[in-house]
Amino acid sequence: MFKDKKTLIAFSIIPQFLLIKLVGSNHELIETYYTNGLYQYTSKILRYVFGWLPFSFGDIFYALAIIYMIRWLIINRKRFTKDKRGWLAEVFSFIAVIYFSFHVFWGMNYYRIPLNESLGLAKEYTTEQLIDVTKRLIVKTNAIHLKITNNDSVKVVMPFTKEDILKIAPEGYNTLEKTYPHLKYKPVSIKKSLFSLPLTYMGFSGYLNPLTNEAQVDALIPVYKFPTTTCHEIAHQLGYAAENEANFMGCLAAIHNEDIHFVYSGYAFALRHCVNEVYNRDPELFKILVESINKGVRKNYKEVRDFWDQYKNPTEPIFKTTYNAYLEANDQEGGIESYNYVVDLMVHYFEDKI
Ligand SMILES: [Zn+2]
Repeated sequence: MFKDKKTLIAFSIIPQFLLIKLVGSNHELIETYYTNGLYQYTSKILRYVFGWLPFSFGDIFYALAIIYMIRWLIINRKRFTKDKRGWLAEVFSFIAVIYFSFHVFWGMNYYRIPLNESLGLAKEYTTEQLIDVTKRLIVKTNAIHLKITNNDSVKVVMPFTKEDILKIAPEGYNTLEKTYPHLKYKPVSIKKSLFSLPLTYMGFSGYLNPLTNEAQVDALIPVYKFPTTTCHEIAHQLGYAAENEANFMGCLAAIHNEDIHFVYSGYAFALRHCVNEVYNRDPELFKILVESINKGVRKNYKEVRDFWDQYKNPTEPIFKTTYNAYLEANDQEGGIESYNYVVDLMVHYFEDKI
């Protein structure tokens, strides 16, 4: 039936897909044998291999791959009409290899046991619980903000360069590791993206390269946002694939850092998510709560909003839709919408902690 190896590889996508969905439906199996098994070895090996390089090897690999694909399409453009079968076999065998590598090196983490279950946290919360936690987060964030600035109207300016932040961010995980040994982050592999400008236009502040396990942070985002974004990308490396879970772990790592500026960015991050959820449920109360947040904290929020507004463009929604489709293909119900699930985790976590 299959004339050559390439056709066979191309058709392997079908059993691969079925196997992934079958194995992926057993979350315990994934948690034990993939995330805490195979992935522990592959991710560490990749970070040992690429982590020490001062630049993102994965970004260069992507650039070369894109050039190669364009070149291939130009060279083989006529073959499509003459040898359709061979052309399709070549394209799909390439896709099959990428699909396979993606799942072996990273993608199966999407099928883990949900974090709220593994932490034993309830999933639902009442509006009263949300309001209570939000109010406490306001008190906490305001206090840390004032400790840093001594003036409630001044925004926090990070006393670090972005390179410094990349080096300091793992410390939060070192603290968490004492309670949760699986959060040990070693070896380190976190870099600025070589494609920060296109990334910004696409509306992303960072990403993990699944094939090299390097984490890239958009080098253009405001310094104030750098700690939580860096911690978010590290969470992805540690096997938290889901966006909402990486947000939660990133927030925890920031507030467990010894540096007060990191702690501030972590609490401000949690507060922003919670107060936005209050807006969805009670816009009038939202207005009152926002007024009680220090002006300086609000200036930090505005700094980030202004930054993204600067780069708004018609292509951004296309990339967001593509990413959404990607998340849904990986069993992330609700796609980007599921970002709000981070509030579930935050409400239940902070309820008895602050
Ligand atoms: Zn992410």
